[in-house]
Amino acid sequence: MKYITYSSITIDKLNINPTLMPAIRSVAARYPFLVSSSYAALIREPGDAIWRQCVPDIRELEDDGQLSDPLAEVSLSPVPGLIHRYPDRVVLLVSNRCPVYCRFCMRKRHVGCGDRTSSRERLDQALAYLRATPAVRDVTLSGGDPLMLDDASLHDILTRLRAIKHVSVIRIGTRIPVTLPERVTPELCAMLKRFHPLYVNTHFNHPTEITVASAGACGLLADAGIPLGNQTVLLRGVNDDVGTMRDLMSGLLGIRVRPYYLHQMDLVKGTAHFRTPLASGLEIIKSLRGHISGLAVPHYVIDLAGGKGKVPILPDMFERDGDRVFVTTYRGERVAYQDITTPPA
Ligand SMILES: *Cc1c(COP(=O)(O)O)cnc(C)c1O
Ligand code: SF4
Repeated sequence: MKYITYSSITIDKLNINPTLMPAIRSVAARYPFLVSSSYAALIREPGDAIWRQCVPDIRELEDDGQLSDPLAEVSLSPVPGLIHRYPDRVVLLVSNRCPVYCRFCMRKRHVGCGDRTSSRERLDQALAYLRATPAVRDVTLSGGDPLMLDDASLHDILTRLRAIKHVSVIRIGTRIPVTLPERVTPELCAMLKRFHPLYVNTHFNHPTEITVASAGACGLLADAGIPLGNQTVLLRGVNDDVGTMRDLMSGLLGIRVRPYYLHQMDLVKGTAHFRTPLASGLEIIKSLRGHISGLAVPHYVIDLAGGKGKVPILPDMFERDGDRVFVTTYRGERVAYQDITTPPA
């Protein structure tokens, strides 16, 4: 497997107050710092939404109450790098690098570190497992960022996956359209479209990330017939307000990306300062439903600890009194609906 090369910035390019530098370096020694030049260019000022997502924060080291792998991904891996949690779908980790190491990453334990040499062997093992497991119909490539691999390596993985008859759907989870949009080239798209049905789920967290470049990357993928979804992580101090989320979700629809999940922060060690109460997420969902296109409203989900799966959380808009049901409209009006207890013959 071969990784692409690209340009990134060093920590001293950030104009951080020198008194804070030792602390920031100690955080970066534990959880690596890496920011592509294209993502760094989106920073407008220290402490803004882009900055908070990619610049180390001392609170990462202060948080030791949580687990490094709360979703039990390691124990749900029949072979290393393959997570089999649901009956018919798996996640295949094909890269441990990303153009930007997001400070809130759920795989903080894994990205940017560890073994890189055995990836070929690991892939062989994972593919052998998939060939022997006909229940699996849907494979998500994840990582790290799968699009950090060069076109030839990706082509090789996709070809080998497509050779497995029972694998019907291939998905790629990638933040590259946001973090390194120039990686999405016409050549890459021409290669990917040979593996349909192939879906891409990307990861925008803030309207500032919707730029000419990221919109262009999504446009190229969409023109290759690849349906695009988006997963946003709800992050305190970054996007945990109604206006930001409305702009983000409707902005995504405008660049042909369909919002899919809004994730409640996982209980990952080193990320506690990003967590919000569920009430924030519920308030956001309430403010979206009915107010903007239904196509732009994601499912708000908790990914339960222990690998118990994603569960959608909905605002309370429903009350029952016998076979009368009271629902609350998007305007807050309470309306009765007559249910039936037995369906007509
Ligand atoms: C999220 C996830 C999936 C895919 O779930 P969908 O709800 O189908 O998008 C599959 N496996 C794992 C381990 C996951 O975390
Ligand atoms: S791009 Fe995704 S996998 Fe990579 S650091 Fe960010 S959140 Fe984690």
